Amino acid sequence: MADLRLFFFMVPGMFVLFGILLGALAVADRKMVSARWGAVAFFVAGAGILLDALRPVDNDWLRHAALVAHLASVGLILKAFVARRDRLLPVATPAIGVVAAILFMPSSPVGPSAEVRLVLVQLVALAMIVPVLKWKTEWKLGTLVDRLVVVALALAALSYAIRGLLFTINPDVDHPANFFDSFYNITFHVASALIGFMLGLVLLVAIGIDAIRRESRASTTDALTGLGNRRALDRAIGADERGRWRCGGVIALDLDHFKDVNDRFGHEAGDEVLRAVARALRGAIGDRRITRFGGEEFIVLLEEERCDRIDQLATRALDVIRELQFEGALAGYRASACVGYARREGDASIEEAMRRADQAVYRGKENGRGKVVSADAPRALQGSGVAA
Ligand code: GH3
Ligand code: MG
Ligand code: MG
Repeated sequence: MADLRLFFFMVPGMFVLFGILLGALAVADRKMVSARWGAVAFFVAGAGILLDALRPVDNDWLRHAALVAHLASVGLILKAFVARRDRLLPVATPAIGVVAAILFMPSSPVGPSAEVRLVLVQLVALAMIVPVLKWKTEWKLGTLVDRLVVVALALAALSYAIRGLLFTINPDVDHPANFFDSFYNITFHVASALIGFMLGLVLLVAIGIDAIRRESRASTTDALTGLGNRRALDRAIGADERGRWRCGGVIALDLDHFKDVNDRFGHEAGDEVLRAVARALRGAIGDRRITRFGGEEFIVLLEEERCDRIDQLATRALDVIRELQFEGALAGYRASACVGYARREGDASIEEAMRRADQAVYRGKENGRGKVVSADAPRALQGSGVAA
């Protein structure tokens, strides 16, 4: 049937187009690992369908190679989506490929009839998709794109399984003489092609969304420490103003005599100290809304719910900084800081609380450094440690 032959060329053509598009993305931005895997997947899918279309109808080996290519492309697509989370499924494609090869190949030592093998391998592929995703990536199916991915992948595997079942019910459909004009065959290929297009589109959208997210994350991240930068702080303040969350207090922190670290040990060593302090603060306070405000100054905006412990958190922040152990040139160096904190009062702005926390830091500096100071503490501060 001539029309169907045309179809057999159009579908791989589309897949190769997806492959070129994704390949171009992968070349343009090397961080887009998912585009790389997606490109390979769609080229393999296109090659599999072309092989299917062009092979002599009675060549068993080419027929099986085409089937393995179909299944391998499902595994590769799976990798492409998972790579979006900076993870890989090293086993996905080889596992699907090996199972397919063992069960499919004409001289396979495994016993069942060709039709039963077909069903088996397709069910294996189907059964692998969601559990492997969940187990290996802790995928939460958080976004619409994620859900579409799983649906499309499951449909892809399902269409193979259904094809296998149909062959079992009516083996004639895959007979060479019926190959091109079999209703089942046409339905199967149309369904797989549509699913392939859907996967290609979802992958492109997902990669686009990821790229935008990454850009946005990079623009709000401090390159040295990985903490938020001033823009992240401004965003958090904006989000508070819009009622997305409620900041209940501010902890401000300034390292003591940090200029001396650079002078004594060099700028590189100073950077190392800043990174270590950032890691320690993350560990002590949690990941959220810690920003590197200036060179060696840090600001934490605390959610209202955590503010009843603001004094403990501020003290903990100083403790973890004091406990830092350094090696190499910095061996023996003990970091120290002044930590000021202020609860946000009533309708006061976050900026107001930041200003008061900052003043508390400077009172700590005036009083000998290495201090935790509350903005509410009496002005004449004596001794060391927490002033309540
Ligand atoms: P104080 O106890 O009064 O806070 O003294 P200080 O030396 O910490 O304060 P000062 O503000 O005089 O110096 C801050 C120093 O931080 C100056 C600058 O060399 C250093 N600094 C700022 N940003 C960076 C950075 O990204 N890397 C390194 N290594 N040093 C930095
Ligand atoms: Mg400073
Ligand atoms: Mg300082």
